[in-house]
Amino acid sequence: MNASSVKRIGVVGAGQMGRGIAQVAAAAGIEVVLCDASLEIADKGKSLIGKILGKQVEKGKMSADEHRALLDRIVPAGSMDGFSSAELAVEAATENVDLKIDLFRKADAALAPGAILASNTSSISITRLAAATSRPERVIGMHFMNPVPLMKLVEIVRGVQTSPETYALVHELAVRLGKTVITSEDRPGFLVNRMLIPFLNEACFTLQEGVGSPEDIDTGAKLGLNHPMGPLELADLIGLDTVLAIAEVLHKDLGEDKYRPAALLRNLVAAGWLGKKSGRGFYVYDEKGQKTTSSLAR
Ligand code: NAD
Repeated sequence: MNASSVKRIGVVGAGQMGRGIAQVAAAAGIEVVLCDASLEIADKGKSLIGKILGKQVEKGKMSADEHRALLDRIVPAGSMDGFSSAELAVEAATENVDLKIDLFRKADAALAPGAILASNTSSISITRLAAATSRPERVIGMHFMNPVPLMKLVEIVRGVQTSPETYALVHELAVRLGKTVITSEDRPGFLVNRMLIPFLNEACFTLQEGVGSPEDIDTGAKLGLNHPMGPLELADLIGLDTVLAIAEVLHKDLGEDKYRPAALLRNLVAAGWLGKKSGRGFYVYDEKGQKTTSSLAR
């Protein structure tokens, strides 16, 4: 099997990452079974992809026929039954190790024996997920960045069991999807989040300690460090539940105090203020997803 023989993939999770992965795969001519915990959630995921791409049609960047053809390639599902004819599946469900192990067991049972099982996890050990399956040599990390259609990078993560053939095929597939690849060994947070999450967490500490306002922290990173987004805005985009889950993996698995998540981050997640996807995180967002005011002003 090579990347051009991939005709059908399964995607587990129709959240912001799963939707993006489904969209770029369908744009490359691949059929996608987009599965979530219920058919209703998966249907909603497909509608959101249609809505976002509808704007491309309005702007004349995509024809109505292309829009229809792309969406026709995405089949929403409430189970993984349709994975049996897929060459590869990408798991992009909530960042929780027990959930992912359960989903890996289910995907392993649903996929054909030769198929590859990839995870879009931000931090969870690929080796551990692979060990829960009957195909550890065909398990790999395929870590897309958010938003998937815009971000060029895919970080490929090799578990200790991952075969060179699996790595080569997934590398080729990422290139087929228009992405640039970096490769990481299987360590907590891999390369990108090992660098990013301590930075976002430190921004939470500066806010919690009253060193500066959210706007000054974000402007400091944008104009002082030449970052396109400030750390609090970026944390809101990623999802504060996901940022916290990654920080917890770094703290637990690297075993160092410097990775401990800020109490403010924990509190916002406990309040259900998960960032842009829930309409409120460090900032409040309007119904169009535009940032309005700081969330914490009293
Ligand atoms: P999200 O909250 O937007 O979506 C998670 C999806 O998983 C939801 O649709 C949820 O219903 C679904 N899900 C939960 N339980 C399920 C089950 N039992 N079966 C099927 N689906 C289930 O989260 P996200 O931002 O899309 O993150 C998904 C994964 O991608 C996580 O592992 C995250 O670490 C990783 N990731 C996130 C980002 C980011 O910036 N948000 C970037 C790279 C990687």
